[in-house]
Amino acid sequence: MAKTIRTVCALACVALLTACGGGAATEGAKRPLVLTTFTVLADIAANVAGDKLQVESITKAGAEIHGYEPTPDDIKKATKADLILDNGLNLEAWFAQFVSEVDAPHVVVSDGVAPIDIAEDAYRGKPNPHAWMSPMNVRIYVDNMVRAFSSLDQAHAADFHANGENYKRQLQQVQDELTGSLHRLPSNERALVTCEGAFSYLARDAGLAERYIWPVNAEQQATPQQITRAIEFVNQNKVPAVFCESTVSDAPMRQVVSATGAAFGGVLYVDSLSGPEGPVPTYLDLIRHDARTIVAGLTGAAR
Ligand SMILES: [Zn+2]
Repeated sequence: MAKTIRTVCALACVALLTACGGGAATEGAKRPLVLTTFTVLADIAANVAGDKLQVESITKAGAEIHGYEPTPDDIKKATKADLILDNGLNLEAWFAQFVSEVDAPHVVVSDGVAPIDIAEDAYRGKPNPHAWMSPMNVRIYVDNMVRAFSSLDQAHAADFHANGENYKRQLQQVQDELTGSLHRLPSNERALVTCEGAFSYLARDAGLAERYIWPVNAEQQATPQQITRAIEFVNQNKVPAVFCESTVSDAPMRQVVSATGAAFGGVLYVDSLSGPEGPVPTYLDLIRHDARTIVAGLTGAAR
């Protein structure tokens, strides 16, 4: 009997210690969990959420996000999510299936953005999904996040609103820097040639002509025909430098470089942030890095 009492007491004490000692950790773990489909959205969402929500990306930095294949761990994690944010505009080909397997509400953060249509190939007429490449569009992403977070956690609605307004001021600043630096390029250097057609929004904002090897990352990319078209564009327009993105192989663009004599202008970031030690740990860094790389490449400063 005495032994039973001691055992009960020991168990109760352990339970008590866990409850009290783990106070801070329990507090942290209680924050609603918001998952995003990729790292760029996670960073923007974290700016809006502040310390009130736990925000994580399903895909890791450097992942190919269009044709991503979710793991069983991703699905397990998503079943615990209070909210999932996706970009929409057909960016995440895997998302409809994914979200049907987990019981969590989701919000499309690009809702309300005026899309630019893809001009060619199999995707002709469909919206270009990379709307976040215009910081002005990201203002709409932020508004959608503020709304979604406020209905998820009403007690902190004022915080989300204030964080959103503050972040939108930073978006305006980075937009001004982007257009300011790129609009200074001489007219003969105003062409942006990339691997994926992911820069339509940025090219529009910056007043650049856009050419790419393939329209959207998918299985059928960098066909000989697509590479030939890029080579012709570079030759005809005497484009001084071409670029490729961090999440795909630059081998097809290297072919364009050797066929034309254009310089390889560097790596651009669009579908993923870098890790914390890399060149673009945040979305604002991503836009600044790309603007700098494009200007340096096209003006020859990188050579
Ligand atoms: Zn992409």
